[in-house]
Amino acid sequence: MTPGDLTTAISELRRLIKDAGRIVPFTGAGISTESGIPDFRSPGGLWTKNKPIPFDAFKASRAMRDESWRRRFAIAETFESAQPGRGHRALATLYHAGKVPAVITQNIDNMHQLSGVDANDVVELHGNTTYATCLDCGERYEVAWVKEKFDADGEHAPDCACGGHIKTATVSFGQAMPSDAMQRAEELANNCELFLAIGSSLVVWPAAGFPLMAKHNGASLVIINREPTELDEFADLVLHHDIGDVLAPFVGN
Ligand code: NAD
Ligand code: ZN
Repeated sequence: MTPGDLTTAISELRRLIKDAGRIVPFTGAGISTESGIPDFRSPGGLWTKNKPIPFDAFKASRAMRDESWRRRFAIAETFESAQPGRGHRALATLYHAGKVPAVITQNIDNMHQLSGVDANDVVELHGNTTYATCLDCGERYEVAWVKEKFDADGEHAPDCACGGHIKTATVSFGQAMPSDAMQRAEELANNCELFLAIGSSLVVWPAAGFPLMAKHNGASLVIINREPTELDEFADLVLHHDIGDVLAPFVGN
């Protein structure tokens, strides 16, 4: 069903959440717009201004690496000032109540960790942009450190001590999806009673397959997104409302 009014939407969701022992949320950019981080589609959004730099180009060209870091520094303030919204906080509440074993996310913004979900229980399909790693040895670097070196070296990105290139810990176009995260997400989707797809247009594959996987394995599927999604017809409950408004009643103290 697709309840038109918010009160019915919330009470239907409350019933499903109450009845489910194991709930797996799957979040996309829409859960973080309340935190001031634009989603993919918003006009003039952070992500639509520049053509993405594919992974091969990043590895092959110093100019591309410098450009990639220049773009990252340009959005630093947005990420550093962002705080979890009502959606993140509601999921953290369900996590602490033992209802949610882990959160699967396409987001790279670290908001679920900031809301109190243990980092080990945030399954990041597209990585995390709030820190960087060496592509060769995996050494972790902080963005502020990279910025310092970048500025000191005439706007050139530093390399790792091992000689490898340093990149934000995100998955770029053309870069392999992290297999451990993909596997964990699959296990979670296959073993839950309720699957909540929140703030994703559900067009990005293979990630968009998880809601269907859950459904095929007997879970109820709820989609919360203010616009229709590709998978609405398969859902038990579709809520075309604001995520913060829908999830606010589930935020604990
Ligand atoms: P998307 O932009 O394709 O879809 C987001 C959906 O959320 C849209 O359909 C929009 O209508 C809906 N939405 C936005 N704000 C909402 C709100 N307050 N209430 C209800 N619905 C709302 O996002 P996607 O499916 O996650 O794909 C984008 C990709 O780009 C992701 O895979 C991610 O890696 C990356 N990305 C990440 C972030 C982030 O980390 N916060 C932000 C933008 C893009
Ligand atoms: Zn290294």
